[in-house]
Amino acid sequence: MRFLKGLFWVLLAVAIVAIAVYLTGELALSDRLTNFYLLVQAWLPLTLAFDQFLVALTVACVLLVLLILLGCTGLVLAISASRQQQVNAALAARQETDRVTEHHRRQYEHLRTMAQALTKQLDKRVLVQGIIEAASRMTSVLQANTVVSLWLVHFETDAIRFERGFYCDEALFAQTEFQPTDQPFSQVISTQQPWIAETGIDGLAFLRREKLQQLGGATRAMMVPLIIENAILGYLMLFCHPEVLKSYEAQQAFYGALWSELSLALAIAVQGEVAILDRLTGVHNREYFMKRLIQELERANRYRLPLSLLMIDIDNFKLVNDMLGHPQGDAVLKIISKLLKKSVRVIDLVGRYGGEEFVVMLPETGFGEEAAGRAGGAAHVAERIRQAVDDEFRGLQKPLNLTVSVGVVCRRFPEDREHDYQELIRLADEQLYKAKTTGKNKVCIHLPDSAQPVPG
Ligand code: GH3
Ligand code: MG
Ligand code: MG
Repeated sequence: MRFLKGLFWVLLAVAIVAIAVYLTGELALSDRLTNFYLLVQAWLPLTLAFDQFLVALTVACVLLVLLILLGCTGLVLAISASRQQQVNAALAARQETDRVTEHHRRQYEHLRTMAQALTKQLDKRVLVQGIIEAASRMTSVLQANTVVSLWLVHFETDAIRFERGFYCDEALFAQTEFQPTDQPFSQVISTQQPWIAETGIDGLAFLRREKLQQLGGATRAMMVPLIIENAILGYLMLFCHPEVLKSYEAQQAFYGALWSELSLALAIAVQGEVAILDRLTGVHNREYFMKRLIQELERANRYRLPLSLLMIDIDNFKLVNDMLGHPQGDAVLKIISKLLKKSVRVIDLVGRYGGEEFVVMLPETGFGEEAAGRAGGAAHVAERIRQAVDDEFRGLQKPLNLTVSVGVVCRRFPEDREHDYQELIRLADEQLYKAKTTGKNKVCIHLPDSAQPVPG
């Protein structure tokens, strides 16, 4: 550039001197120019008079000066265009970063609000669904090729079981159970950090081949532990597009915060359930049952509905413990609890009253006559339970040829509106006692005038 500048001034000076010599005819103005003419004269193809030489020299110099000017202007323009391009690209990149940051900020705010709302939610089903939705949203994956599933650690056995999923083969997942020693769970347990499959999802063989194909080759797997106070409550298993994992790697702090919120929600879900269930049998514990009974009585009064209560006691249960041992007794309690749950509707509630005694609440259910056309009244439900237990253990050797006795009370509306939960328990217990003292393996019902056993 400096050379061009020098050349520019030299050429301009030569042109000016040449013009001056031409106009004045004074050779003395520039000896150098005259010497130069004499020097080049020998080399020129045609003989030029000195005047002509001056004109040609001026024209050549002016042309060269113009050429330099043009070249420099072009160069400057090209440089400024490329600078402008760089500036534009930098601005666009900045705008894109701002847009992505803003998008993530809004997404983060949304997820945080959602997670906080979840922690206030007490219904386990809603909580679990919310956790799945938050995880799906975080992976921006309301699209195919993504599977999100939640796996919970069973508090008694430590087995890892499928709880709920989004766009997944629920039937297949539900059949699968993992142990803490299985990979990649064992690795996640030891590091307490999310695990990302290095290549594809080969390590997770429980996904059927056709499912793998459906997910597509690009799918990556990630497992996130949901942790509260160093205890892993569950795992989110995500199968997603590699872009999602890139975004995860770039924003670990954001995801870390989200996992903690979801862990808290899960803790509430799990502990809430533990607090209301009987640990051995999985039916509701006595405290929760009573709370719900009181609520249902209020509802029955408000909507003028009947309600029934069953009290169930295993006959001669002590013999199981005495002859076969306590663990066998526990196993029997579990079997009978399952039968009870299977024998009632979803809106009915089964609870463990204590020892080998159970209670069942049947909302909107009376004696049976007024419930014609439905599954039957309380007496029918009680009889169905008695029969189910009888069928389950029939033919087994003593003491496993087990049966149950059932006491039933129906609270009518408005006749029995004064009967509170204690009165209902007392009346059902009275009928249970009656069933026990009149032969066991039978159902006795409290009737307003008299109590009569249903043949068992
Ligand atoms: P009945 O027909 O009169 O009801 O006789 P029963 O033997 O069933 O009743 P009893 O009240 O004499 O005995 C109840 C037994 O239940 C005594 C207790 O050891 C046992 N039991 C209570 N809770 C549990 C438990 O959680 N596990 C086991 N294995 N046994 C329990
Ligand atoms: Mg008893
Ligand atoms: Mg008993």
